[in-house]
Amino acid sequence: MKIGKYEINLINSGYFGLDGGAMFGIIPKPLWQKTNPSDDANRIKLATRNLLLQNGNRKILVDTGMGNKWDEKSINIYDIKQDDFSLTNELNEFNIKPEDITDVILTHLHFDHTGGSTVLENNKLIPAFPNAKYYVQKKNYEWAANPSDKDKGSYIKDNFVPLFKEGVLHFIEGEQNFDDEVSFVIINGHTFSQQMLKLSDSSNTFLYCGDLFPTASHIPLPYIMGYDIQPLVTLDEKKRILNKAAEENWKLIFEHDPDFCSATVIKTEKGFKVNEKFKSL
Ligand SMILES: [Zn+2]
Repeated sequence: MKIGKYEINLINSGYFGLDGGAMFGIIPKPLWQKTNPSDDANRIKLATRNLLLQNGNRKILVDTGMGNKWDEKSINIYDIKQDDFSLTNELNEFNIKPEDITDVILTHLHFDHTGGSTVLENNKLIPAFPNAKYYVQKKNYEWAANPSDKDKGSYIKDNFVPLFKEGVLHFIEGEQNFDDEVSFVIINGHTFSQQMLKLSDSSNTFLYCGDLFPTASHIPLPYIMGYDIQPLVTLDEKKRILNKAAEENWKLIFEHDPDFCSATVIKTEKGFKVNEKFKSL
């Protein structure tokens, strides 16, 4: 799939599981389990779907999945299903080595979005993509470095502080254009200053949704995660984005949906719903 000068591809760097109740907030289980069945620990299956943008030698990766720094206990808690070097292996399929990645854009610094940004080598945490500039919103980094007691479990400093110390982490402040095709849309309900990526050219618009719409099941307005630190802000953000997406026929890309990578949406008398779901771009 082409957007302007970029060839765009999706990379699934693995699967993990989170509690279905936490993923769907106030929604009763009999409703969410129809589309997202849970295992015996009440976890639903989630993907870590990353975005790859290529234009010649410029190779941009968006989010880095869970990474490979997990101990056995956490692998069991989060039901992490990936091989040791999943992201690297997936990039290999495109003939891309870690040193070929020129840019890593991070939507936010939760462990399932930036886990693969650093690796442990000779007992030292180093950037996993040695030649890449990494980008995150400055306010998200500040929050991640000093989160609340509610959300500190989601921010693991080994995944991002080493990037700052190595001088490869670049701060972006607010909504702005990255280049002609890529711009950032800031949302603050899930955490502070998450940046979604809007990719557009004259014919298509894609929105890489991060954790605003983790799966296709999260399109209806009250389906808001228990993890969100400002759920009513998420509600307003969902309305704003869904109105635009329905009006302008955007394709929403889901980072965590285990089955569908993207969807279009429509506005009906009963609210917003998925129009068409896609398994590939
Ligand atoms: Zn998140």
